[in-house]
Amino acid sequence: MAEDLNPFRIAQEELDSAAEAMGLDKTAHAILREPKRTVVVNIPVKMRDGSVKVFNGFRVLYNDARGPGKGGIRYHPLENLDTVKALSAWMTWKTSLANIPFGGAKGGVICNPKEMNSYELENLSRGYVRALWNSIGPKIDVPAPDVYTNPQIMAWMMDEYNAIAGHGEPAFITGKPVEIGGSEGRFDSTAMGGMYVLRESAKKIKLDLKGSDVVIQGFGNAGMFAFEIANKLAGAKVVGISDSEGGIYDQDGIDYNKLLAAKKSTGKVQGYDKGEKVSNEELLELDADVIIPAAIENQITAANADKIKAKIVLELANGPVTPEADRILFERGVLDVPDFLVNSGGVIVSYFEWAQDREGYFWTEEEVYKRLDAIVTRSFNDVMATQEKYTESGKKITPRTAAYIVAVGRVAAAMKLRGWY
Ligand code: NAD
Repeated sequence: MAEDLNPFRIAQEELDSAAEAMGLDKTAHAILREPKRTVVVNIPVKMRDGSVKVFNGFRVLYNDARGPGKGGIRYHPLENLDTVKALSAWMTWKTSLANIPFGGAKGGVICNPKEMNSYELENLSRGYVRALWNSIGPKIDVPAPDVYTNPQIMAWMMDEYNAIAGHGEPAFITGKPVEIGGSEGRFDSTAMGGMYVLRESAKKIKLDLKGSDVVIQGFGNAGMFAFEIANKLAGAKVVGISDSEGGIYDQDGIDYNKLLAAKKSTGKVQGYDKGEKVSNEELLELDADVIIPAAIENQITAANADKIKAKIVLELANGPVTPEADRILFERGVLDVPDFLVNSGGVIVSYFEWAQDREGYFWTEEEVYKRLDAIVTRSFNDVMATQEKYTESGKKITPRTAAYIVAVGRVAAAMKLRGWY
């Protein structure tokens, strides 16, 4: 039978397995299988040629038992409600695992931003806020950038919300430019958080990161910063890197600045003139200590999980390892660290931005990194402690299941205290 790839079904199935492993209360489970609120809007937008186009948009608040919703807004031609629902569920588990005072949410608009000019994008972004201002806000549900949305779009949205509220309310949205209430350290927050998790993972398996070999799949926002930080902070040697066109491998280590220059001038990683060319499949199977998938989903599957030679798989991308591959890696003794732990740095620094905006007092970049480190290290330890506790009681679980148990357990406890069940 073909695998059901509907993301919302997958999100529900993941919850179901965690619920079974932890013996979750049936009513709590039923509440957590569906979003609390789904709002669908139609937004009329004045276009440059004088016409008006109507765009379909969504905002899903999955759960707010632990605090206001938190999650990005995506602009994509293939956006659909089931994807937004799934992503809002995953945000609920991510904020809970980080133990920050938020629930989970997500939003989206069906549109093609590549075919829209800045005038039209501004009108759409302001229209999204006018259509939804009643259901979002600093104490209700706090949006952020996501696929094809950026700090400029957040700035327009904040301006529109402030005009409706009649006063300044920067904590309404995160991912803003620093000039209007954004936080220091946000750009590389995802990769930075991931590298702190890598440090803890290496400690856990007694791997010395200094001089160890690292392979990174993807050279976009996440992969690029991960490369730089792995080199500079951890002293690790990046020996393999790729983009959608393919990868390169150099046992002596790849030079970051030369690679950046090659990517800029040729448009691809394989423009780097040293080492050997490898395909994306070969890249993942290279002889390295650490593999960091930082590109797209479903890269390590049942078909290649037994060929992975690394000791640590650090999931910086969302969903790069399928559930079956997760089990295979676990049985083979590979430490596969789950995405919603590894890439939680972005939402954690979003939380810092919200907190700084509400206080009107801003932190240095150094302060931001220090607090980020403390939170992801705590999350990593929570996951490992839960895995050990289950192992001691005779139940072998993967780090991903342990992360789910921590996250779902906290949301269920909050709902219970509030009297929802
Ligand atoms: P991006 O678009 O900036 O970069 C993606 C990179 O992956 C590009 O280098 C692209 O060439 C490469 N790529 C695409 N298809 C590929 C393939 N088949 N094989 C190998 N490489 C391929 O995206 P990003 O922001 O770096 O995000 C990457 C992943 O990290 C995504 O899964 C995203 O959801 C996740 N993530 C990113 C952030 C963030 O702050 N950027 C936060 C959380 C999660």
